[in-house]
Amino acid sequence: MKSIRLHEISGSPPSTAIVIGSGIVGAATAYYLGKRGVAVHLLEATAPAAEASGAADGAVSVASKRPGTMMTAALRGVALYRDLARDGLLADLYKTRSTFIIAASQAECELLEKHREALLDAGVKAVALSRQALQKRFQVLSPNALMGVEVHDEGHAIGYEIVHRLVKASGAFVHRDTPVREFVEAGGRVAGVVTPKGVMTADAMVIAAGGGSANLLNLDNVLIPRKGQLLVTERAPALNRAMPGAIMSGRYLLSKGSQKGTGALPSRGLGLVIDPLRTGQFLIGGTREDFGDRQTNDIDAVRRILLAAVDLVPGLADVRLLRSFAGVRTAVIDGLPLIGRLPGRENAYVATGFEGDGICLGPLTGKTIAQMICGETPEFDLSDFDPARFMAGKVAA
Ligand SMILES: Cc1cc2nc3c(=O)[nH]c(=O)nc-3n(C[C@H](O)[C@H](O)[C@H](O)COP(=O)(O)OP(=O)(O)OC[C@H]3O[C@@H](n4cnc5c(N)ncnc54)[C@H](O)[C@@H]3O)c2cc1C
Repeated sequence: MKSIRLHEISGSPPSTAIVIGSGIVGAATAYYLGKRGVAVHLLEATAPAAEASGAADGAVSVASKRPGTMMTAALRGVALYRDLARDGLLADLYKTRSTFIIAASQAECELLEKHREALLDAGVKAVALSRQALQKRFQVLSPNALMGVEVHDEGHAIGYEIVHRLVKASGAFVHRDTPVREFVEAGGRVAGVVTPKGVMTADAMVIAAGGGSANLLNLDNVLIPRKGQLLVTERAPALNRAMPGAIMSGRYLLSKGSQKGTGALPSRGLGLVIDPLRTGQFLIGGTREDFGDRQTNDIDAVRRILLAAVDLVPGLADVRLLRSFAGVRTAVIDGLPLIGRLPGRENAYVATGFEGDGICLGPLTGKTIAQMICGETPEFDLSDFDPARFMAGKVAA
């Protein structure tokens, strides 16, 4: 096998880094490393944004996060998007808007009230709206909506647009069609990676391979696929303009496990989100399915999503469906991502397992990993996400 040496292995801060995977997490890591003068080689099994980051809804949102570290992380994640938009990099790609969580049953009202308290405790502006106030603020909403909570200062971003912008701005060398097969280890370090094109070495390694990380890290029992199906409509500018924000059904909190309801998570949950896009279209999702990693749509799921959407926004019945798609979220069995140094490897880091939150948390994660690699104090406390909780120290597949 050919050996490709990118740089002599040296101490910290590194001159070179290999980032495995160019989804949003790998792209953001490359961007923040590039800003610090690190020469980055982005190794991608197929093409940038080919997996979850290219098949996501794109809510940059605190609204549905589980109280605790995830909610705090999401707050920081949303703030970083605002900064990146204000500074120009994402100015045309990030849309600021509110999220309206809507309750349509008594059980959802109770759940929502509890969730609003958690949001308020975390410092989020979350305003309760009575049925009347909701109808006034959101006139296209069905009378079935009993109450709502408006979560202010949230946003939306299309995952693949963010990936391509970050990759371009990073100055990284992108190696497409370059799957990493295994690691080359030397003296407590990951010295290199084996690819079909040869062995590549660098000072620092970042594993941001989404679902592919399971195989690379022998974490098949820890990282689990969770499929989601989404729909995109034609442009409907008048209806789009009439929506002051995205709609999230109270049921979404249950399907995502943001608040504990009765019983276990359904294996094929539907949590409705209707996002009015910058284009005048609507993005409507989606399912959470625990039974496999297929990327296909099925008519039953499409039908259920459409019925739920029209139930909350009746005007959508006159808007044509353009396309449906499906993607696979990579979840960690304890519900928290894996972010941090690989146990026992001083120069290798992992960032994966973001389930349905990686668009929101991707830039923050990339920034934090870059700070760790460059010997800076990470601006966000990662201890709850430490990969050591599942890894005994063995790295290579
Ligand atoms: C239906 C759906 C809806 C979603 N909605 C939202 C939302 O509203 N808000 C939100 O914040 N998040 C959402 N998400 C979640 C979000 O998309 C993911 O959490 C995020 O994209 C994960 O990014 P990533 O970079 O970790 O992984 P990915 O985007 O999967 O990227 C990993 C990359 O690594 C590559 N790779 C894999 N193995 C290897 C290897 N061995 N060598 C080299 N490269 C490799 C893959 O080809 C891929 O390009 C949604 C996801 C889905 C599926």
